[in-house]
Amino acid sequence: MADQQRNKINKSPHVLLFPYPAQGHINPIIQFAKRLLSKGVKTTLVTTIYIFNTNLPHNNTISINIQPISDGFDEGGYTSADSSESYLKTFKEVGSKSLADLIKKLQSEGDTIDAIVYDSFVTWALDVAMEFGIDGGAFFTQACGVNNIYYHVYKGLISLPPGPTVSVPGLPRLEWWETPSFVHNCGPYPGWSETVFGQFSNIGHARWVFTNSFYQLEKEVIEWMGKMWKLKVIGPTLPSMYLDKRLENDTDYGLSLFNANHDECMNWLNNKPKKSVVYVSFGSAVKLGSEQMEEIAWGLNDKDVNFLWVVRDKEKEKLPKDFVDRKITGKGLVVAWCRQLEVLSHESVGCFVTHCGFNSTLEAIGLGVPVVAMPQWTDQTTTAKFLDDIWGVGVRVKADETGIVRRDNLLSCVKKIMDRESGEVARMNAAKWRELARVAVDIGGSSDNDINEFVCELKHEC
Ligand code: UDP
Repeated sequence: MADQQRNKINKSPHVLLFPYPAQGHINPIIQFAKRLLSKGVKTTLVTTIYIFNTNLPHNNTISINIQPISDGFDEGGYTSADSSESYLKTFKEVGSKSLADLIKKLQSEGDTIDAIVYDSFVTWALDVAMEFGIDGGAFFTQACGVNNIYYHVYKGLISLPPGPTVSVPGLPRLEWWETPSFVHNCGPYPGWSETVFGQFSNIGHARWVFTNSFYQLEKEVIEWMGKMWKLKVIGPTLPSMYLDKRLENDTDYGLSLFNANHDECMNWLNNKPKKSVVYVSFGSAVKLGSEQMEEIAWGLNDKDVNFLWVVRDKEKEKLPKDFVDRKITGKGLVVAWCRQLEVLSHESVGCFVTHCGFNSTLEAIGLGVPVVAMPQWTDQTTTAKFLDDIWGVGVRVKADETGIVRRDNLLSCVKKIMDRESGEVARMNAAKWRELARVAVDIGGSSDNDINEFVCELKHEC
């Protein structure tokens, strides 16, 4: 055996993990890094200079090395770019060079890099890895079913715009409006459309394809996609203490781009009866119009509803003035950000009104909380379909012909899920998925096995 090979075997393998720099992409990759670390892999998280300088890990659950690269927006990050197109273009140009510089720097310090796990949104990271002869693994943060639809568009098997219904292997037939927004409304965000369809542009060169899902949740699609690539299904990537509890103190993702009003949330929730609170959040990126905000505000403002609503600071000005003036404290609490996992797992929370971002979706499933699905764009329209029709953990609230969800509709969906009888099936299904999620990541579970297999390959043991 060559000396070089023997050295590789004796040393812990080293993996660079490179998420797209947004909360919903950072969280799952950090958790994957923690799992790898617990299995003897050295991990380095690569993030942008802007995030590195402004949002260092906020607790001690994360002991992963972090290295910054430039996305071309070191002072202001994504929001300082003129448009998403200009951000994505600059990120690719500047990021490719900066990532290459980082690899050179680490190698010159004697560090070997055995693999780069990169977000499937930044396919150019694989090109950089290949320049250095490093193996790459694409990491998909959205549902496998959604990726499958994008793959079919990429291959020209679904036309844009699609016909009245869309069929892909492993999924039931979808109405056109249940496809991701970039499929049924492909015009408004050309940079994002190109990004999501382009996820497959160089996938044939990736040694691994990771996906944040679990086998039982998306069995048919996973089996179909597994025939094409070396698919590793490694989720759900919730902090371990919410599922298998094998990673001690792992209670939080550890790198938040927003400051949570944590004590305020917990004190308020602690004073509410069991399962009496509706938690409402649209994640880190969705921007709602003022009319939609108004409908939500008055929909939630019902004598029978306690609500905790996350309205990010930049969105607050859209709240109706008299709603704010009425000092809703007591029945409702509006906060700029919360620790969502702690909120969802609080005993007083009975329902999650969600935009169906895939992390929020997996968190609802992993914590057994039934949902009212209120998707806005991107993959959310399709994930909402899965939550309602396939996984059975909630209901989708209907928008009117102008695309707005009216207050009465929202309230009746919330009441349906909160009600002891009408919400029972969703609650039972949520509890069932919760257990299956735990089993998947626990010792010997399907996701645990896939992670072990990856580690085994890195260590050249199989
Ligand atoms: N999140 C949070 N506090 C909040 C709202 C969201 O910690 O007040 C977290 C949530 O737990 C999830 C992530 O932010 O992990 C949002 O990701 P998701 O995929 O659900 O939506 P996105 O922000 O990407 O649209």
